[in-house]
Amino acid sequence: MNLDTSDISDKPKEACGVIAIVADKDVSPYIYYGLRALQHRGQEASGIATYKGELKVKKGPGLVADVFKSEDMEKLPGKVGIGHVYYSIKVSKPENAQPQFLRTGVGDIAIAHNGILVNSQQLVDKLKKAGKHFIHESEEEAVIMMLADEIRSIDDIPRAIKNVCKELIGSYAFSLMINDRAFVLRDPYGIRPLCLGKFKDGSGYVAASESVALDIVGADFVRDVMPGEAVELTKDGFKSHNIGPAMSRAHCFFEWVYFARADSIIDKVSVYEARKRIGWRLAKESPVIADVVMPIPDSGRGHAYGFSLGSGIKMNEGLMKNRYIHRTFIMPNQDARDISVREKVNPVRAVVEGKRVVIVDDSIVRGTTMKRIVKMLREGGATEVHVRIGSPPLIAPCYLGIDMTDRDQFIASDRSIEDIREVINSDSLAYISVDGLVEALNMERDDLCLGCVSSEYPVNIPGERRRFQKTLEGFV
Ligand code: SF4
Repeated sequence: MNLDTSDISDKPKEACGVIAIVADKDVSPYIYYGLRALQHRGQEASGIATYKGELKVKKGPGLVADVFKSEDMEKLPGKVGIGHVYYSIKVSKPENAQPQFLRTGVGDIAIAHNGILVNSQQLVDKLKKAGKHFIHESEEEAVIMMLADEIRSIDDIPRAIKNVCKELIGSYAFSLMINDRAFVLRDPYGIRPLCLGKFKDGSGYVAASESVALDIVGADFVRDVMPGEAVELTKDGFKSHNIGPAMSRAHCFFEWVYFARADSIIDKVSVYEARKRIGWRLAKESPVIADVVMPIPDSGRGHAYGFSLGSGIKMNEGLMKNRYIHRTFIMPNQDARDISVREKVNPVRAVVEGKRVVIVDDSIVRGTTMKRIVKMLREGGATEVHVRIGSPPLIAPCYLGIDMTDRDQFIASDRSIEDIREVINSDSLAYISVDGLVEALNMERDDLCLGCVSSEYPVNIPGERRRFQKTLEGFV
């Protein structure tokens, strides 16, 4: 039986969240709550690894609350630990749950990864050629093996990490445990987020994909991990190590637009405020005469509020979400699929009837859900339905850790905005411009990855154009 884990819309999925804690107390309950705060980043599997004289790991398919019972915390003792919530971009297999670990000659090594290594296959092939035997053939296992070899040869963990990172191409935010030492590291472009915090009671230090996890476990935000930085967490503080050459940054813009929780702050930019500014800018770029602005719950809420402020049109909740739908069966026919969307989100007739409605959402991938929502609003009595989108049109795959790997999945890859408007049957449709987005994020354009809206990527991807590339491939 197939299961569809999609949100109310056909949105891309984030690929994982990580956490690491070192403290003067057992850390597994804190990792548990930190992972729950990061659950939006991955719902397929969850895992915790801790160390107390030996490595203990528990992981499995499902949400954090499904995988762990309170008695599991006693089976995960120790003052150092890492955790992971998982969403698979490649093939989803239960054994791919993380943290992945190996008991090596230099110690027990466990790793949790958010991101994708573009050269993972080459790394695996090279290690296999050198006689290594894989259990999962995963990029995480490859990193552990490389790390163990480096530690064995130079006996200096930070230098070993640096040497291994030289071999990695792609996006990574790792939390890593080598016996009782914990490190977190971020790729030289800072593609995926990672931040550091300190427990308010002074008992230790935390690192996590998003600051919301620090809030929940009772830690104060200290700073973001810098691109190209490895940080060793100890109960007394952080030790920073440079692991990569200074590159221009390439923070994934989609973290602010859609993936991250609105109450997180990433690379000094509040996710909620960024969404609000995007909506405001959208209202200025593509004004519309209407009676009510409505968000598509939940991720479109900040954008819609900003649009309301920018346009002067009142915002109202005209779409109600059923919060208790996590999984639905993939429906066999169109009629059943319409039911499945209505089950997840339903219009409030009192808000919609007789009104010219603007709906604001963060992005459109295939357009199928947006089409159904427009239809639903018309059936609910809306006289006009206008659609405003808080990202530029998605036109190209993501190779760096987000589940948008197929160019054909994007409605905008080969259609004009007018063609898309016709497909979703709205009265008007507008996306924020790239310039508008960059301004709303309060960042430099060159500090962002915009690969999926520009087809230009921060790292070398075979067959794709590199960001800042001035010449055609092979043409000097
Ligand atoms: S390609 Fe798009 S989704 Fe992927 S990292 Fe870059 S901005 Fe983010």
